[in-house]
Amino acid sequence: MNNPLRSLPQIQTLLDKPAIAKLPAQYSRPETVDALRKVLANLRRDLLEGATTSLPDFDAPEFSAHIGAQIEAARAPSLRRVINATGIIIHTNLGRARMAPEAIAAMQIAGSAPTNLELALDTGKRGSRHDHVEALICELTGAEAAVVVNNCAAAVLLSLMATATGRSVVASRGELIEIGGSFRLPDVIAQSGATLSEVGATNKTRLSDYENAIDADTAVLLKSHTSNFKIVGFTASPDRRDLARLARQKEVILMEDLGSGVLIDLAPYGLEDEPVVSDIVKSGVDLVMFSGDKLLGGPQAGIIAGRRDIIASLKSHPLMRAVRIDKLSLAALEATLRLYRAPYDPTVRIPVLRMLSDSVETVRNRADRLAQTLVTVGIKDTAVVASGAQVGGGALPEQDLESFAVSVTLAGMSPDALTAALRRAETPVMGRIERGKVVFDLRTVSDDEVPLIARAVAQIAAP
Ligand SMILES: *Cc1c(COP(=O)(O)O)cnc(C)c1O
Repeated sequence: MNNPLRSLPQIQTLLDKPAIAKLPAQYSRPETVDALRKVLANLRRDLLEGATTSLPDFDAPEFSAHIGAQIEAARAPSLRRVINATGIIIHTNLGRARMAPEAIAAMQIAGSAPTNLELALDTGKRGSRHDHVEALICELTGAEAAVVVNNCAAAVLLSLMATATGRSVVASRGELIEIGGSFRLPDVIAQSGATLSEVGATNKTRLSDYENAIDADTAVLLKSHTSNFKIVGFTASPDRRDLARLARQKEVILMEDLGSGVLIDLAPYGLEDEPVVSDIVKSGVDLVMFSGDKLLGGPQAGIIAGRRDIIASLKSHPLMRAVRIDKLSLAALEATLRLYRAPYDPTVRIPVLRMLSDSVETVRNRADRLAQTLVTVGIKDTAVVASGAQVGGGALPEQDLESFAVSVTLAGMSPDALTAALRRAETPVMGRIERGKVVFDLRTVSDDEVPLIARAVAQIAAP
């Protein structure tokens, strides 16, 4: 018997074949060798498993074309567009906020042409990148000064380093949060060179707990938004105004890590618990920090707003350079913040707020359209179902937004297999599995993405 395993050629033998020898010039030698190695490994596996019993014709143009296609596939971008049909509006794994066209246009300009990033055009002198958004942030938050850094984690670290290194930070045991990944408040405080003084209990912290903990070493009272969990039941925490009064009296700084940071009241959309930045500033908090790419709806950024003297010390801190915001994000942030001003309506212009404020009828119509399109492309087992969407991004963890979804079942395919196939689609689609079915929540899907979902499902059903 002629064992095809023994006839598998060497890589070099293949590279010497005329059709394959052209590939290193068209792509590169390492990519060609890599593709050949993978194709041979797959062949070996298929032969061993009995999935195939013969070798292809290595001299045929089909074989070199196959190798070329493998190289092209390996060259596809790693960071790709996907469709968020999870119902989680701000999904960290999917890149958080999608931005407004105005923000994208501003990045396009800042990326493709020189800008006055650090140049004062009126005087011709060196300017500061912080100048481009400070007045806007002050206008929208009521703060007297502001500065922007790379993200909210950097904002918290920089703020603590500039105010509390070598001293103590008082924080409630109910607010020692972890935001996923490596952001844990006690660790960040330690990293800043400050010591943490924990007060109160997990569910209850009183004003007197803070008061008793303040001593000559204390630099900061730190509040943080318990953004991704909720303590319910027998709970208490002091009013911010009382804390602010205590901080002033004891000459320490009251800081608040807000996480999401919303600039407008979301109560009209049924989201009552998310504090508005301007209210927090008004209550007397000295410094607040929040993200640019959560509920604000802009690029990754960390915004710090508050007292002028503290902001000035942040701007001149040695760490500032290491955490500064880049020009593309700065351009996008300025453009996003401008959409919060008249004549614009941020709930119409900013995608995150639009998804959050879309009426349930709008979402239902989108779900109907997807279900109809699926039927048109031959997917019969589909239904429109009520669903609960979430804000995500560590905001309002307990509140569901009324929503609608489309469920899909493909004959002979488990839900797990279907979601795996959807991840490998030309435009990957991220849904959820609910009660044994794959569902697409339409609150986080834009109108122009509806046909892309239908196409992905249709190609899986009939490849
Ligand atoms: C999300 C969050 C952060 C971290 O913000 P990034 O912009 O991701 O760095 C910090 N604190 C709170 C309370 C958050 O919710």
